Amino acid sequence: MTAWPRFKMYGVPGNFQRALCDLALGRVHAGDDVARFEQEICRLSGSRHAVAMPQARVGIHLTLKALIQRSGRRKVILSPYTIYDVVNMVVSAGGIPVFVDVDANNGNIDPGEVAATIDDETAAVLVTHLHGIMCDMSALLRVCQALSVPIVEDAAQALGAHSGNKAAGAIGAAGVFSFGRAKNVNCFYGGAVVTDDDDLARTLRSEIATYPDMGSGRLAKRVLICLAYSLAVSRLVFPIATQWLYRLMALSSPKRGAELLSTERNPVLHTMLPEASKRRLTPMQARCAIEQLSLLDTHQRKRQRLVAIYREGLADIPAVRLPVMVANTDNVFLPFPIQVLDRVALQQYMIRRGQDVVIQHMGNAAAYDCFAEFHRPCPTAQMVASSILLLPTYPDYPENAARRNVDLIREFFKSSSHHA
Ligand SMILES: *Cc1c(COP(=O)(O)O)cnc(C)c1O
Repeated sequence: MTAWPRFKMYGVPGNFQRALCDLALGRVHAGDDVARFEQEICRLSGSRHAVAMPQARVGIHLTLKALIQRSGRRKVILSPYTIYDVVNMVVSAGGIPVFVDVDANNGNIDPGEVAATIDDETAAVLVTHLHGIMCDMSALLRVCQALSVPIVEDAAQALGAHSGNKAAGAIGAAGVFSFGRAKNVNCFYGGAVVTDDDDLARTLRSEIATYPDMGSGRLAKRVLICLAYSLAVSRLVFPIATQWLYRLMALSSPKRGAELLSTERNPVLHTMLPEASKRRLTPMQARCAIEQLSLLDTHQRKRQRLVAIYREGLADIPAVRLPVMVANTDNVFLPFPIQVLDRVALQQYMIRRGQDVVIQHMGNAAAYDCFAEFHRPCPTAQMVASSILLLPTYPDYPENAARRNVDLIREFFKSSSHHA
């Protein structure tokens, strides 16, 4: 059986054709497709407004900045189990990050912990639907509405997820989507904020209007980086080259190997939004994203089939903790996270047998040195962050590869030394 990579980018190859064409013909900034894209995001999420962003994190920054200014309060409650730059977005917005612990069932913010922490200095609660798994929004809304504190949903990984009949992102006061490289719609970085709040939407638009367009040179560089990754994990190159490189890194020095590939390896505190982040999404990127929106449902169904294989195959192994979904939710699972005691040993076991999987690289930001001034003990986040291994769910991933993952995990835990 030939090897399949741990992750493949969405939107390939159409993205590359469109981007390279537009770059070559100087059409990157031509067209009103950003407005068209915003309308599509409104329609999808059922929100009144959608404002395109250069990246999701800029959307988080601007939304929090507006809510902090409006309320005159500064505390922003958030889960520490997210990418560290999200914490920077709180700080650069003028907020004070207040980390609260997560629920071990799914790694998402624990509503009980929010209830114990929220007070009349809280400007907003930022909740992350990590891995596209919905937070317990009804519990969170109960807690927050009692104190009139707005919820901002980081739905960067959750485009297409639902709680009841409401779309992820459209449940709180505002929601943020990402169209970055590793997301289920990819337009060489991009994002959007959705909201029903006219005032907030107006503020976001007037801020974005002051940003210059993303330059073609920088976009071209991004496109080439994505193209290089895409080739490295292609059917042609991956089995003969990249697989062996990944294998070497995972087996020789798993920690360093994982760090080398991680964007989270050097967390640093930024108190200002970098000038380079202040760019507008280009019409070319909007066209790339629009093209993929019609595939969301098909992709969702394919992921669900893979998730069903993982769930059924692993349900009876006590040493494997499967994500628990909140009742009445439809989740994106980008990818499928399992918790195990020794994830490095399991990763090595699988990679040695030809199945490429990756450990989740995000850590517990509440324990990072750079955020020491905001430190709060989050033992569950610490535990979850050190135990998650990611199983692939991207739409190309064959079902028999998912079954092989299940078989290997079962085999691994049968050998007595790895019992929990
Ligand atoms: C990717 C991601 C972000 C940031 O998205 P960008 O578009 O890269 O800014 C924020 N939060 C989570 C949970 C993410 O996965």
